[in-house]
Amino acid sequence: MDAFIILILIGLLLYFFRKYLLYRNYVKHLADSLKVRQSYLYEGDSEPGSSKQMVKLTERINSLIKDNTRLQQKQASHLGQLEATLENMLEGVIVLDHKNHILLANNALRDSFSSWIGKSEIVGQRLEALFSSSKLRSFIDSIKAGGANKPEEVELIHASDRRWVRVSGAQARSDTNDSDALIMLIFYEITHQKELEAVRREFVANVSHELRTPVTIIKGYVDTLTQDYETMSESNKRLFLKKLKKNADRMNDLLVDLLSLAKIESTEPGTSFERVGLNALIRQVLANYTDRLLDHKMELELQLSDTEILLQADRSKLEQVFENLFHNAAKYTPEQSTLRVGTHQNEGEVQIWVEDNGEGIPEADLPRIFERFYRVEKGRSRDKGGTGLGLSIVKRIVALHNGSVIAKNAEGGGLSIKMRIPTV
Ligand code: ADP
Repeated sequence: MDAFIILILIGLLLYFFRKYLLYRNYVKHLADSLKVRQSYLYEGDSEPGSSKQMVKLTERINSLIKDNTRLQQKQASHLGQLEATLENMLEGVIVLDHKNHILLANNALRDSFSSWIGKSEIVGQRLEALFSSSKLRSFIDSIKAGGANKPEEVELIHASDRRWVRVSGAQARSDTNDSDALIMLIFYEITHQKELEAVRREFVANVSHELRTPVTIIKGYVDTLTQDYETMSESNKRLFLKKLKKNADRMNDLLVDLLSLAKIESTEPGTSFERVGLNALIRQVLANYTDRLLDHKMELELQLSDTEILLQADRSKLEQVFENLFHNAAKYTPEQSTLRVGTHQNEGEVQIWVEDNGEGIPEADLPRIFERFYRVEKGRSRDKGGTGLGLSIVKRIVALHNGSVIAKNAEGGGLSIKMRIPTV
């Protein structure tokens, strides 16, 4: 080849190689800039060989990178704010995609359902895997359908555990694509309120039930007495009056116990603490009970400590505890049974026991007998004038003294009530 042509070819090669190096430099700048989103492409015509278009292109790309960076910073700070807001909320928040997959769950939600979630990561799971509730599902469906979504009270079930939440929600959706939709749910736990409501409802139902029977009986006898008074025999009149008295007494006992319980359970239980000699107090209640124990031919076995035990206690309430327990021992044992009462001082506390040797209570009923209106044999307790409130009053009074009470079946039969009350 002619030397002249070779020279031209080398010149061309050098030219293109230089251009290549130049472009490589631009591309490297661009890649770096996109990577760090802060430094920009080199601007200006000082770059040897830059054409005007190249400078313009560089400026445009830089301006794009600037806008993009600004937007990303703005978005990041919004996300940061959103995240901080969600984490500081007391209510649990969950964000779902359109297929109910969890995208985000704040700390309040994770904490309050930690026993359900365990160590597993809930982001990515379907909501249904965590909370089983058809009502929650329909609530989410109604949000997706754009329906009115007032907060709903929903019962959530997980294994054998049940919790109540008030849940409100909203949807964020792009105009074009339903699959972009995000659902945000806010959970406010109301399990405790629901439990209190249930207890209140049950209590009202129990009281109404307890009062209905004596009221119905009293009304029946009074109606008969007023209609047939002239024609009735004297013995029937006496019998009817006896029945009226029995049922009026029953209502009275119930109301006395109810008022007593209401007082003890109120925020101001009206306690008046003083220094009380426990053994002396027990002897005094027993003395008031002598007739009743004699009627029942009950034997008394005292196991009181040798030295007096001094307690900071509400005297009249503590008397009520022993009255209720002695009353039960006499009510639920056959004649000639034994009542055993004992005290023992330990370090910082006193142990007290009241035992009988009657039939005792079936093991399955034992944990429930301190509940209001719980009776082992409903008919038997009512016949004996029981209100079903005696032991719950005992438990409340012992709790007012910071103590505890348990019921056990004594060895060889009979019920044993054991209490512990701090002496300091
Ligand atoms: P009540 O007014 O019906 O006696 P309590 O709350 O005092 O109510 O007692 C709850 C239930 O526990 C009673 O209905 C009775 O079935 C059972 N009970 C209480 N004390 C004894 C006892 N000493 N022996 C056997 N059963 C008892």
